[in-house]
Amino acid sequence: MECPFCLEDFNEEALVCKDCGRDLRLVRPLINENLTLVALIEELQIQIDRARAAVDRATAPITYWSIHIAIYLIAPISLLLAAHFLSLLSLIYHRSICALRP
Ligand SMILES: [Zn+2]
Repeated sequence: MECPFCLEDFNEEALVCKDCGRDLRLVRPLINENLTLVALIEELQIQIDRARAAVDRATAPITYWSIHIAIYLIAPISLLLAAHFLSLLSLIYHRSICALRP
């Protein structure tokens, strides 16, 4: 856990912060509640993202799938082809250099 006063980490069972010396007994329930709420917010954010994706798929499927195809298919395939092209250029260059040697 992190001390709310000095932001240093402290032992979960400590009664007083070892760095700033403040009493942690009163703020510990608030810290625990805050951690619970943060976890809940993160879970709700994930659910919101999923719901937005579902709405996007339902309302504009062509746009949704076009974007996803571009991101997950076209971009990786383009990078793969570029890597193969550069590898091929390197091989051709290396062979032409070797062919020029006596
Ligand atoms: Zn402290």
